[in-house]
Amino acid sequence: MQKPATCLVLNAGSSSLKYALYNLTDMSLIQKKTIEIGAAGYDAAFASVLGLIDSMNVQTVAHRVVHGGRDYAAPQRIDAKVLADLTALTPLAPLHQPHNVKPIALLLAKYPKLPQVACFDTAFHRSQPRLSQLYALPHAMADEGILRYGFHGSSYEYIASVLADYVGSRAKGKFVVAHLGNGASLCAMVDGKSVATTMGFTPLDGLMMGTRTGAIDPGVVLHLAEQKKMTAKEIGNLFNKESGLKGVSGISPDMRELLASPDPRAAEAVDLFCLYAARQIAALSVDMGGLDGIVFTAGIGENAPVIREKICARLKFLGVVLNDVANHENGSAIHQLDKPVSVHVIKTNEELMMARHAVAILAKPFISPAKTFK
Ligand code: ADP
Repeated sequence: MQKPATCLVLNAGSSSLKYALYNLTDMSLIQKKTIEIGAAGYDAAFASVLGLIDSMNVQTVAHRVVHGGRDYAAPQRIDAKVLADLTALTPLAPLHQPHNVKPIALLLAKYPKLPQVACFDTAFHRSQPRLSQLYALPHAMADEGILRYGFHGSSYEYIASVLADYVGSRAKGKFVVAHLGNGASLCAMVDGKSVATTMGFTPLDGLMMGTRTGAIDPGVVLHLAEQKKMTAKEIGNLFNKESGLKGVSGISPDMRELLASPDPRAAEAVDLFCLYAARQIAALSVDMGGLDGIVFTAGIGENAPVIREKICARLKFLGVVLNDVANHENGSAIHQLDKPVSVHVIKTNEELMMARHAVAILAKPFISPAKTFK
């Protein structure tokens, strides 16, 4: 029997290749897997992906690409010009972009006719007003591309796409979506569009995360470089890999482990994480001129009632009050119904969002961006 036509969604990182395979007829998930790039190396991991393409009637491949720069404001069918553009964006995301681009290049060479689509973490935020994208640097630097780009776009777009199922016409209102996983950020959404977000030029900005600092006084960077003679690489490693929950607790980057630990340092790290998140939810309410609802999503957001409780307890003055029972059941609506701000737990699905984009793009004629922008 002929295998059903499928869409392969690929998320290629430095240490793993994650994939999800969808049936194109009904968008049901066929399989989902994380292949660790272990001692056998990248080629061995990628060989399993090639095996899928050959055996599972793959009609299109959607790739998670961390950076789309200023030009790519929507998912994009890939050709040689797009691949060159994405490769050229590497200096903006040196830790992620090369890994995202590598399988695109390999597949383009091996299967030039197989439609490939890039889905950018940054694209969903390109709807933001200019002020949300600016840093207070000399304007020439903004012109050069030193802007707040924001990330986690596929997750936010998925939540935007299902929000009305949970809140009806209130989905047109002012929501903060809290994507709290190993990486963590917030997105202020009005009528399902991003108006502000906590990650900035890189995914280091904003909230405290598993191993990342989040927002930090740039003076700390100068101090580490000038007084402690740390190199850019060492500072990058400190801020990206040794800070956040891991650094503050000295125990683990993993929220579940910290919540289970009796060590006061674990508790301090958890409380700091919640303070950052609550503070930034309040800050984003300024960007929206109010707050109608909060959505918690990703590993911590979906599964950790204690964290939601600690964050929301700090936001009572904005009208955020949880229903304890619903919160502890990870319910889809966890607020007290007579309060002005609704609070929800919604499971994100970045892979499905990317698959939907690939299918929509497959249905359209392909016009290379070489013809539309430089
Ligand atoms: P990633 O950003 O890598 O996709 P996830 O969204 O899977 O990460 O989130 C991982 C985080 O979620 C970890 O800190 C993990 O401890 C936390 N987490 C998962 N389940 C729970 C739980 N039941 N309680 C508390 N934290 C949890």
